[in-house]
Amino acid sequence: MAKAAPTDTRGRHLRDLRISVTDRCNLRCSYCMPADVFGPDYRFLPRAEILTYEELARLARIFAGLGVVKLRITGGEPLLRRDLPQLIAQLRAVPGIEDIALTTNGLLLPAMARELKAAGLNRVTISLDSLSDATFGRMNGKGVGVAPVLKAVDVAMQTGFAPVKINMVVQRGVNDTEIEAMAERWRGTGVIARFIEYMDVGTTNGWRMTDVTPAREIVARIHARWPLVNADPNYPGEVAGRWRYADGQGEIGVISSVTNTFCGDCTRARLSARGELFTCLFAAAGHDLRALVRNGQDDAAIADAIAALWQARDDRYSELRAANAAPVPKAEMSYLGG
Ligand code: SAM
Ligand code: SF4
Ligand code: SF4
Repeated sequence: MAKAAPTDTRGRHLRDLRISVTDRCNLRCSYCMPADVFGPDYRFLPRAEILTYEELARLARIFAGLGVVKLRITGGEPLLRRDLPQLIAQLRAVPGIEDIALTTNGLLLPAMARELKAAGLNRVTISLDSLSDATFGRMNGKGVGVAPVLKAVDVAMQTGFAPVKINMVVQRGVNDTEIEAMAERWRGTGVIARFIEYMDVGTTNGWRMTDVTPAREIVARIHARWPLVNADPNYPGEVAGRWRYADGQGEIGVISSVTNTFCGDCTRARLSARGELFTCLFAAAGHDLRALVRNGQDDAAIADAIAALWQARDDRYSELRAANAAPVPKAEMSYLGG
């Protein structure tokens, strides 16, 4: 009953699915869930609103039938969702899924790494914006220092999640002076540091273009200290520009979602914690798949609905931003999954 893999209006296939398993988080990064917006009175989704693991696994099977081969588990902070290894095990059993990755702030990883690995998780990306307790504590909105995150990286490596990647969101005037230190920390360790341009996701982070440190500056600054050579993408549609150290000490990734957009190759869909399909990180609204799942539709009908949504997809927000098109309303990243 496998259907032909749909393409969207720009000829892009559906290959990657990012699954947000919770909208909650134990940090309040100012660029993602600023503490003054996501405060004690903020109403997160009640449990009944969130897709169960059985519902997620069923949707993953349907997406795999439409061409998805890679899954990324994200949030919010995905490790806050209870018994996450059980979900990983269910996703691992889905035919056609080649790779399951997790993006996490790492705080809860040491306690769960082995179980996640045993359940079939392949890769881990850990977010770490600074190696300074002061800067990191300010950026994460909770005063949490770097030690627990460094511990998580160690544990991830020991557990055999190779290669472990680090995500550093670079904000001008906040942590951009720490780019070289971050590169140096992970050079020669097997860990891949990825430098991400600060993006205008959601509506709450007060983003301005002047807060962005462009990817070409990040690369130039690292190159000035340790010469880099450009490396080919691992696969078409890979979001990170890859650069290798000329002296063989590993590689870095640079994600230029603002200054050098990659919408033309974007094969990613996102599933929010409450089961909405977002066809772009910057989409204002999702399409309610939970209603289909809970209203007794069979797999073929849900597959048809997803295929139709993908075939109608025309998103290229970052390209339009680069062309200075008018801003559009958006959903929050912590809600729809980074
Ligand atoms: N809580 C997990 C974490 O922080 O890794 C997973 C969810 S988080 C939304 C996923 C990734 O999005 C993180 O690496 C985070 O740094 C990144 N991110 C969040 N807001 C961003 C922004 N405004 N610009 C660029 N990256 C952002
Ligand atoms: Fe939480 Fe991740 Fe967003 Fe930071 S980036 S607030 S850790 S979801
Ligand atoms: Fe994909 Fe939307 Fe990002 Fe473009 S802006 S790369 S279409 S998620």
